[in-house]
Amino acid sequence: YTENEAVAHERRELEASLPTGGPKNLPIALHMTDEKDYETDKPRLVILGTGWGVSLAFLLFLEEQAEMEAGAVSVLKELEKDQYHVTIISPINYFLFTPLLPSATVGTLETRSLLEPIRSIARRINGHFLEAKAVDVCFDEKLIEVKSFDGGDGSAFYVPYDKLVIAVGSQSITHGVQGIEHCHFLKTINDARAIRKKIMDNFEKASLPTTSASDKKRLLSFVVCGGGPTGVEFAAELYDFLTEDVVKYFPRVLRDEVSVSIIQSQDHILNTYDAKISHYTEKKFARDNINVITNARVEKVEPDKILYKMKKDGELRGLPFGLVLWSTGIAMNPLTKTISEKLPEQKNTRALITDHHLRLKGAPMSTVYAIGDCSTVENPKLVQQLVQFFVDADTDKNGWLDYKEFDALAKKIIRKYPLTTAHLKKADDLFNKYDKDKNGYLEMSELKEMFEDIDKRLTSLPATAQVAHQQGKYLGKKFNQLVLAEKTKIVPSYLKEDTPSPNPEDRLPPFAYAHLGSLAYIGNAAVADFGMGLTWMGGLSAVYLWRSIYFSEQVSLRTRAMLALDWTKRFLFGRDISKF
Ligand code: FAD
Repeated sequence: YTENEAVAHERRELEASLPTGGPKNLPIALHMTDEKDYETDKPRLVILGTGWGVSLAFLLFLEEQAEMEAGAVSVLKELEKDQYHVTIISPINYFLFTPLLPSATVGTLETRSLLEPIRSIARRINGHFLEAKAVDVCFDEKLIEVKSFDGGDGSAFYVPYDKLVIAVGSQSITHGVQGIEHCHFLKTINDARAIRKKIMDNFEKASLPTTSASDKKRLLSFVVCGGGPTGVEFAAELYDFLTEDVVKYFPRVLRDEVSVSIIQSQDHILNTYDAKISHYTEKKFARDNINVITNARVEKVEPDKILYKMKKDGELRGLPFGLVLWSTGIAMNPLTKTISEKLPEQKNTRALITDHHLRLKGAPMSTVYAIGDCSTVENPKLVQQLVQFFVDADTDKNGWLDYKEFDALAKKIIRKYPLTTAHLKKADDLFNKYDKDKNGYLEMSELKEMFEDIDKRLTSLPATAQVAHQQGKYLGKKFNQLVLAEKTKIVPSYLKEDTPSPNPEDRLPPFAYAHLGSLAYIGNAAVADFGMGLTWMGGLSAVYLWRSIYFSEQVSLRTRAMLALDWTKRFLFGRDISKF
């Protein structure tokens, strides 16, 4: 044996015997992805989840970045392309393109067109995939407790890591509403399938001669709880389906019974978008007979009736339904809760807190990262930063802001903290709210109060694919930079600094989010909010913009071809209304 062969031999033997260990003395999976892995000592990078935080950006970027660096710097050509021994763990073996999920609920797009097998992505970086669920992380031992789906206690095992990326997303928030089990959710491909089936089921049942008039009405009453982008897009898809396909195949008397309602707790739907967009969508929905009920809170869901309370007068109203979609925001999933509870530094109840380098607070430095919907970036000293904004905005340095200065300040804050768009978009309302003594100026104490208010609400970035994607890209790039610097011993300029830190990662730039805008489909029309008051609303032209953006973001040529086919099929033949 050469030295490498001996190491490889030892590792193979160890792997074959599946050693046990860790706090629960479970088997430890020492799997290797590739023959080469037995001989080399690459760091083990484990990624939990196959969603936006990982699949698109992170994995592809690992590969792209390695190629780019190797091409650009001659000495790096010697390096292996795959720097890490990558293991991906998730209960589902595909990446789901969520922004187009509402289109799959009525058959505009087929469900398979939104999926990319994770193994085809993992293969590009010699990654290894385990279809299983992570249930806990032992930070001291650097072990992830994982359960496969074959049931029983025997299905649990540990996966060791050197670096761990937690990207397990979230689950729907239920606000403790009673009867939530009668609702449908829209987060997974199975949710979309179940909704599609239920819609057709209701139409067929309503068509039976034995169905009473009141049951017909109820079966064809579709209710959406939550007026955010997902709820709005689902209502829009449903409307398209009703006007383009149902009209062709179902008798007129039945069509007249159909109703679509949205119950929204705020005073507008799409309330995180520019006000112009909310109004445009509300007007369009009014024309389309989509009933938008604002300032109403769902109190209870009965098997065939939803009860909601009007905020203004506390009146309790009931709405019979054939299908309810619950889409009111997100909450921690069981793994995130478990991790959060075991680390004292994790005080947030909505998501795992990371520092600005996306490192999990409370976990050993530079080993555990959290990205996407399951995480939130800590927001230290925001008030101090905002106070600095005030000082900069006070151009005449007289110690208070007149409206013009305040407007400039509001715009700057919106640019830097996209979440505040909703709060700051009505700058004059805000100005009046905080101008307590009504002297027409905002003084420092008044501004401070406003900043503290914002700070309370502004805990993180929005939970969007855009954030998860950029965070994944950031981590991929950083991991490559670190490993390349370590291997070549060439210190890149971004790591050179006068005051060397024991952790080179501290000297890399922190994660910075660039808000590229928000899109929404609203039924043969689309809206786009690019921030800073820049919006695009319209019919076909906006729909084509919306489609082309998502088309260009596809992970593979295969899904692009499938999407193009689905859109063409729908145009030529309409949607497939078979129920299966
Ligand atoms: P997810 O994409 O949710 O992925 C989480 C992954 O973790 C999944 O693979 C899951 O199976 C896995 N997982 C869960 N638990 C475990 C566990 N215990 N162990 C291992 N793996 C686990 N955002 C936009 O920016 N634009 C849009 O137009 C848009 N539209 C949307 C439409 C819909 C219908 C939905 C539901 C969301 C939409 N979003 C949109 C939001 C976007 O999908 C999320 O912000 C994004 O998916 C977050 O990515 P993630 O990787 O953090 O989580």
